[in-house]
Amino acid sequence: MSEVHGSCLCGSIKFRATTTAEAHGCHCQMCRRAGGAPFYAVSVQDFVLESGAEDLGLYASSKWGQRGFCKKCSCSLFFETQNGAYRAVSLGAIDAPEPKLTRHIYCDSAEVNPEHLPDIFDDLPQLTGRELLDSIGLRDKSAGEIPPIADISQPHHEGGCLCGGVRFRTTNKLDSLLICHCRQCRKQSSSYYRATETSLENFTLLKQETLSWFRSSEDAERGFCHDCGSTLFWRKTSAGHGYRGENTGISILHGAFDERLPLKLEAHIFSEESSGAYPLPDHKDKI
Ligand SMILES: [Zn+2]
Ligand SMILES: [Zn+2]
Ligand SMILES: [Zn+2]
Repeated sequence: MSEVHGSCLCGSIKFRATTTAEAHGCHCQMCRRAGGAPFYAVSVQDFVLESGAEDLGLYASSKWGQRGFCKKCSCSLFFETQNGAYRAVSLGAIDAPEPKLTRHIYCDSAEVNPEHLPDIFDDLPQLTGRELLDSIGLRDKSAGEIPPIADISQPHHEGGCLCGGVRFRTTNKLDSLLICHCRQCRKQSSSYYRATETSLENFTLLKQETLSWFRSSEDAERGFCHDCGSTLFWRKTSAGHGYRGENTGISILHGAFDERLPLKLEAHIFSEESSGAYPLPDHKDKI
């Protein structure tokens, strides 16, 4: 066990926790929607909020689980059972020391088209949702739905956040994916940022009551749902002119789509900022 310290992307929330040896990548559909990619987290025995309590959002994503996030910047902070018996803190939110992954869970919901998009980069042990629940004595609980694989030859795809407050549609054929390992993306998603891009003319917000934007750098902002914490979009801003200035495109997180999109992985970017928690895949286009 070791004490770790962490913070959200905007710096409002700071915490410390004592970690156990178990750190997992969860590939279930709820985690994919919440952070746009697998949820990397380490089980903790205690968790102390040192600042930012007023910005802590909690979303009950199932009858027995809830997710903590920052309402200002959407940084994924933890998953916990509502009875307080179990809590796992996002690896991306931990500043030091960074724990290493020890296994993958809900692997049956992970991307099944590895030549296009490897969801699991390593050879750590893998459990399906059913195997995980059985192993912790929850044989009577449903392991949840496995999202279908999208037909990417079709132009129309829809998605949204966990609570349904934000919904969107794309109307062009989606091309490829980028995976970003920069510190900001890792904080926000817990693992890494995996997104596809579309032009604004092919992107429609069907519902946006709970959509907020966080200005994460001088020329970019990140869209998220402030009710459930789901990370959804990234777009360039035109400094001084607000986000409707010179934009031509928007990045959409892969996990925000209703179906799994077997898109080709184009490149890993900001790989020099990647975490030691997981090995970077041997991909020809590391930038
Ligand atoms: Zn924050
Ligand atoms: Zn939501
Ligand atoms: Zn990034």
